[in-house]
Amino acid sequence: MNSTPLKLGISRCLLGDKVRYDGGHKLDPYLVRTFGPYVTYVPVCPEVECGMPVQREPLRLVGDVAAPRLVGLESDLDHTATMQVWAKRRLDELEAEGLCGFIFKSKSPSCGLERVKVYDAHGVPRPVGVGIWARLFMQRFPLLAFQDKARLHDAALLEDALKRLSMHKELQDFYDAWTHDPHKTRSAFTTLTTELVELSVEAKGGIELSFVPRPGATYSLRGRHTAPGARPVFVLVDVVDDASGRWLSVCFYADAVSDPEELGNLVPKGLLGDDGYCFDLENPSPGTLDYLLERMREVAQGAHAFLIAAGE
Ligand code: SF4
Repeated sequence: MNSTPLKLGISRCLLGDKVRYDGGHKLDPYLVRTFGPYVTYVPVCPEVECGMPVQREPLRLVGDVAAPRLVGLESDLDHTATMQVWAKRRLDELEAEGLCGFIFKSKSPSCGLERVKVYDAHGVPRPVGVGIWARLFMQRFPLLAFQDKARLHDAALLEDALKRLSMHKELQDFYDAWTHDPHKTRSAFTTLTTELVELSVEAKGGIELSFVPRPGATYSLRGRHTAPGARPVFVLVDVVDDASGRWLSVCFYADAVSDPEELGNLVPKGLLGDDGYCFDLENPSPGTLDYLLERMREVAQGAHAFLIAAGE
C-alpha cells in the first residue's frame, strides 16, 4: 500500500459525533477501530455545516427522484438551495484536501448513497433516491471510490476496498502531477479512465482495475475480468512518456476487438505475450475518443458475457 495515508471523507455521525437531528450519533465501531487505522478521516456533516442546529427537525426528500428537494418533515421548509450553496464551497475545500473516497451514512436524505426514500406529491415514499450531499459529491468527483458504510462491514471486501482506494489515490497523484498538457492527452486519459471505472462499477466485481506506474516510461491503467481462467487483462490504457512527449496507447487482445474504421494496428505478441491490437493517440480528437470508448465497451461486454458463461 502507498505510504501516504489514504484520506477519506466520512459522514461525521459515523465517528460518534453527536450531530444527528435528535442529538445522537451513529458510531460505527468497525469503521473507527478496524478500518480507521488504514485511513485518515475527514469528517463532514452536511446538515450541521450548512447551518442547521444539532437538535433539528428531521428532513426528507420530496419530488423528482432525479432532483429531489430537501425539506423539513413537519414545516415543509425547503433547505435545498442552502445545502447546494454550502456544498459548492465545501467540495472546493475537499478537492484541495486530496480525498480518495467518501464513506456515506446510508439512508440519510443528505448522505445516503442509494435507496433513500423520496416522497411523491401524495406523501408516498419511493426508496430509490440519492441524498443531496452524496449526489453533489458524486457529480463533482466521478472518479473517486464511493462506499456506503454497509459495504465496508464485510471483511472480505475490506482488502478490496483498500486496494481500490489506494489505486484511486495513485491515479489522483498522477493527474495532479501532470500539469503540462499541450495536446489534451491528460483529459483524454481521464475520459478513458472514467469509462473504465464506470464499467467496473457496472460489472459489480466482474471487472478489476489496476494502475501500474513506471515513471519515465509508461503509466498503465489495466482492466481485467475476474472469472477463473480469464486472461490477465482485457484492456490496457498506457500513457507513454518518451522524447516526443506524452501520448496514449490503448490495447486489446487482437481477437477480442473490432475496428470497423481501421484506426488500430496489430501488434504481434504485443500484449503480455499475446497478439495485441493497439490504438495510438498523439493528438486525440473527440471523434477518435468516442470510437475508442465504443471499443472499450464492446470488449468489456465481451468480458461480461464470459463471466455469465463461466457462472460467475
Ligand atoms: S447529515 Fe449526514 S453526517 Fe450529518 S447526521 Fe445526517 S447522516 Fe450524519
